[in-house]
Amino acid sequence: MARVGVLALQGDFEAHCKALAAAGAEAVEVRTAAQLASVDGLVIPGGESTTMLKLLRIENLFDDLKAFGDKKPIFGTCAGAILLARDVINPSQESLGLMDIGVQRNAYGRQLDSRVTSIALDGEDLEAVFIRAPIIRRVGEGVRVLAEYNGDPVLAEQGRHLVATFHPELTKDTRVQKLFLAKLS
Ligand code: GLN
Repeated sequence: MARVGVLALQGDFEAHCKALAAAGAEAVEVRTAAQLASVDGLVIPGGESTTMLKLLRIENLFDDLKAFGDKKPIFGTCAGAILLARDVINPSQESLGLMDIGVQRNAYGRQLDSRVTSIALDGEDLEAVFIRAPIIRRVGEGVRVLAEYNGDPVLAEQGRHLVATFHPELTKDTRVQKLFLAKLS
C-alpha cells in the first residue's frame, strides 16, 4: 500500500488524510524532515499559502520539500498548488517552483469566494469545491491540463506532480486522489 504524507503545518490536512485512506492509501501527517523521508509521495493541502510558507521556513522544511519534489510526487491543492507553481502573482511570493505554471492568488475575487460546481474529468462529471481559489494563468510546455473550469485549467500535471485549484478532499469522489496515487507506483 502506498504511504502518502500530508503536509500538516496548516490548512485542511485532516480531510486529505481521510480522502487518501478512502482512495486506498496509507496517509500520514508530515511535520518533520524525518516524517517526510518516510513517505512515497506528499500532498500539500489547501489553506493559506503565505502562512504555510512562513511555517515551512520556521520548521526549516522549505529546502527539504524542494529536494523531495525533485525525486518524488507532490500533489498541491489550492494553497498547495500556489506553493508548487513557478510564478505567483497577486501578490507575488516565493514558491517551490516544482511545476512550470503561473498562478494568480484569490483570482475569483471576493464576490465569488467559494462555490461548488461541476467540471469534467475524462468526460465524466466531477463535483469541484473552490475556496478563495487561484487561477492558473500560464502553463509551461511540459504541463498537461486534465480539467478546466470557465476555460481555465483547474487540474494539471507535469511529470510526477499534480495540482488542483479546487478541493478534491471535500467531496466523496476519489478519482483525483487515485490519479495521484497512480504516480507513486
Ligand atoms: N487563498 C489562499 C491562498 O492564496 C488559497 C485558498 C485555499 O487553499 N483554499 O493561499
